[in-house]
Amino acid sequence: MQRNPCIANIKAGYLFPEIAKRRREFAAAHPQAKIISLGIGNTTEPVMPHINAGLAEGARQLGTAEGYSGYGDEQGLTALREKIASVLYNGLAEPDEVFISDGAKCDIGRLQLLFGSGVKAAVQDPSYPVYVDGSVLIGSAGGWTGNGYDGIIYLPCIAANDFFPDLSIIPSDCIIYFCSPNNPTGAVANKDQLAALVKTALQKKSIIVFDAAYSEFIRAPALPKSIYEIEGAKECAIEVNSFSKTAGFTGVRLGWSIVPKALKYASGESVNTDWNRICTTIFNGASNIAQAGGLAALDSEGQKEIRFLTDYYLENAALIRKTLIAQGITCTGGDNSPYIWACFPGRDSWEVFSEILEKCHVVTTPGAGFGPAGNGYIRFSAFGHRADVEEACARLV
Ligand SMILES: *Cc1c(COP(=O)(O)O)cnc(C)c1O
Repeated sequence: MQRNPCIANIKAGYLFPEIAKRRREFAAAHPQAKIISLGIGNTTEPVMPHINAGLAEGARQLGTAEGYSGYGDEQGLTALREKIASVLYNGLAEPDEVFISDGAKCDIGRLQLLFGSGVKAAVQDPSYPVYVDGSVLIGSAGGWTGNGYDGIIYLPCIAANDFFPDLSIIPSDCIIYFCSPNNPTGAVANKDQLAALVKTALQKKSIIVFDAAYSEFIRAPALPKSIYEIEGAKECAIEVNSFSKTAGFTGVRLGWSIVPKALKYASGESVNTDWNRICTTIFNGASNIAQAGGLAALDSEGQKEIRFLTDYYLENAALIRKTLIAQGITCTGGDNSPYIWACFPGRDSWEVFSEILEKCHVVTTPGAGFGPAGNGYIRFSAFGHRADVEEACARLV
């Protein structure tokens, strides 16, 4: 049996396993060190009571004759689709444009099936790894060239352009992956910037996959939380989102994608119809227990809990940001996002990663792991217990 040749194209050592390996090696050599992780973007705080009661009630009902349900609609519970449309999109999306998923990352992988292996992909550089790795797996990008993957159009987002890319390098007919608030830079695109992005996608007959996984961390009222706040976006953009970082559902697994009915392929066919077909073919729907939790998260009480939880992580972010700035380190993010992107000009980011681990016993994420333009940067994650974040900050000075 032949191996899928695309798998061989994926560079060895996905970022986070490599970080975990280096942490293990350090811990083995320094068994007395109390290592604190500000590395992986994994949530740490418990699910809040109202949302947790929703999950528990969903599980309890499964044990009753009246409440039991088996397979549900692959697109998700109608009530949840309606509630996402009304509570989170306030008329910007219709319930039948909302598709419930087991998470944004899984959907980003599956969405690539809509376009197949012939399509070009443009990504913010640096970016969340799944856009690029998924493109390599489906065969729309080739092998590792030593400085990125063959065929991926990297859009550098660096201090010199205020972490918003030069859109003129985007070719026609491509998928543009765009994440705002961005992981890893923490940068949030403003309305004018997103309007320019939408305009480019329409002109270049391209489709944007907009990753809004951190939209609930936005506090500045003028910053857009959804791409659909921009006119014309429904003709050129799919939006993915998730309860992972906001409700602490990283392990529960629940997200959604918005696939507008106005979104068409060049041939005029409906992308929404095809996405429905893909969901019913290779996805059997999100867990009904998780969806019961999602319904609770969208109640007014659940929304307050999400605000509380995201505020908590944003306070961590502010502490880290303040500490770094006091050290004279230039950084971005950490105000409307749980990530702080710290600049170490001219330095190799794996080297800075090792230095912070060895001197402070703090695990971070080297920027180079997110793309070629990430070298020279370190990502600090605000996902952590307050006491650990305070201790890590004390060690960083
Ligand atoms: C964490 C994260 C997600 C969420 O993925 P899930 O599969 O929903 O847990 C999506 N996009 C980005 C950029 C993320 O950092």
